[in-house]
Amino acid sequence: MLSTMQDVPLTVTRILEHGALAHGTAQVVTWTGGGEPQRRSFHDVGLRATRLANALRDELGVEQGQAVGTLLWNNCEHLEAYLAVPSMGAVLHTLNLRMPTGQLTWIINHAADRVIVVNGSLLPLLAPLLPELGSVEHIVVTGPGDRSVLDGCRARVHDYEELIEGRPERYPWPVTDERQAAALCYTSGTTGDPKGVAYSHRSIYLHSMQVNSAEAFGMSAKDTLLPVVPMFHANAWGTPHAAFMAGASMVMPDRFLQPAPLADMIEAARPTLAAAVPTIWQGLLAELDATPRDVSSLTHVYIGGSACPPSLMKAFEERHGIRVVHAWGMTELSPLGSMAHPPAGLRAEEEWPYRVTQGRFPASVEYRLIAPDGAVVPADGQAVGELEVRGPWIANAYYGGAAGEPMRPEDKFTQDGWLKTGDVGTISPDGYLTLTDRAKDVIKSGGEWISSVELENHLMGHPEVAEAAVVAVPDEKWDERPLATVVLKEGATVDYAGLRKFLAQRIARWQLPERWALIPEVPKTSVGKFDKKVIRKRYADGELE
Ligand code: ADP
Repeated sequence: MLSTMQDVPLTVTRILEHGALAHGTAQVVTWTGGGEPQRRSFHDVGLRATRLANALRDELGVEQGQAVGTLLWNNCEHLEAYLAVPSMGAVLHTLNLRMPTGQLTWIINHAADRVIVVNGSLLPLLAPLLPELGSVEHIVVTGPGDRSVLDGCRARVHDYEELIEGRPERYPWPVTDERQAAALCYTSGTTGDPKGVAYSHRSIYLHSMQVNSAEAFGMSAKDTLLPVVPMFHANAWGTPHAAFMAGASMVMPDRFLQPAPLADMIEAARPTLAAAVPTIWQGLLAELDATPRDVSSLTHVYIGGSACPPSLMKAFEERHGIRVVHAWGMTELSPLGSMAHPPAGLRAEEEWPYRVTQGRFPASVEYRLIAPDGAVVPADGQAVGELEVRGPWIANAYYGGAAGEPMRPEDKFTQDGWLKTGDVGTISPDGYLTLTDRAKDVIKSGGEWISSVELENHLMGHPEVAEAAVVAVPDEKWDERPLATVVLKEGATVDYAGLRKFLAQRIARWQLPERWALIPEVPKTSVGKFDKKVIRKRYADGELE
């Protein structure tokens, strides 16, 4: 029997219309790094997004299905593009401004972006690439910046504000098929070319509802969100869509992502929630230790993107009364996978063993662990396997380009419709995921596996250690052994022997690294994660103790 229910498409357009109307007074506050922050209401954002859609169609000739690139920081104009471009049936392609320029050129060409909306401060990055960007016909510049670097370029140059000025405040929003692509995001990819994930209207809508559920961020109109995670990194974890849907105000950091301005921003704009990768929070913690600020508005901080050291979670809670919630996700998952909320009814100290895991999956994310021989391993908290997932906001293929077919590489997608995450770990009987490593980062020593994440977490729990990254290096006798690279805090006195002794009290003897390097800074990827490829290359010949 078929249901008797209405079949209404789930679209970004609904998020735009609903947020602008029902939550018209909520605010988007964009940091300007000095004077007054820029403030716009959701009502105004909705109107400006509608004007932008009209301008893109009437002035720039953007058609349904075409890609519009954004090379922007987290700010209000970026949010306007987030809402306008998919709603008019085009595809928002967020460009990672920290990607190597060769890859940036590659993804713009692959997506065949017709338009690039770019912040003036990023013109020096874009301008040299233009001769190689055959599809780009229009460049729309937001904010100040030296536009003379665009002189002589083939594309037409527009000023964002002039472009949208006076355009109609209505638009015949066309999306009727929720499975159409709404946004495109390429993962940086450690090997080979970047891979494009094309999110659908439906996946964004369902993911937004999940982000707003109590088992995820639980955002509501009472909240103010600070998304530090860039809007080019898996749609800032889906938080801009979710916040606009829930009526949660937003504090946008723009380009002011260093610890000091972030601390100032929190004190002045008083967000209740914030989201970023661990390295940002490590920096912020050190900043707050050095120069205290009032960060008491923050009740929850969501940390994901790489394993969050338990010491960092505890420090925020003990020193600042901020609850850190650990989350796991991937670009291919929109990106929300699991969140480490503990089960109900536990005392605070009983919650920690759950909170330091990667968390539990929501109903919409099915999971299984697979052994190297392809067998499903039991979720008993002991057996280790590679995590595979499937669900309505999880990629089933990568974008194949305008002329190409979607790509389903064997190492990422199974025949029976699951995504291979490349992450290795255990799942407890009550569904909590503990990741020990990315498959490619596991240290295979004498037939046993050493978890780089476990060693890092212990090392970062040492009071004199600021950051620690552990990688595998080749070893004649054992195949691979761990190399521990460590950044010490200012004024620290500990040496290798001291660190080794500290670790020896916490892990098995055979796992103790013999190779160490004290380094000034851990190299990071374009989204702020430890770049283990670079670490391996740069420090592979660590000192043997
Ligand atoms: P990139 O590959 O460029 O880092 P993603 O952001 O999609 O792009 O990375 C997803 C990967 O990040 C996951 O497969 C996992 O290895 C890692 N990751 C994300 N969150 C966590 C977490 N909480 N703990 C451990 N690893 C994480």
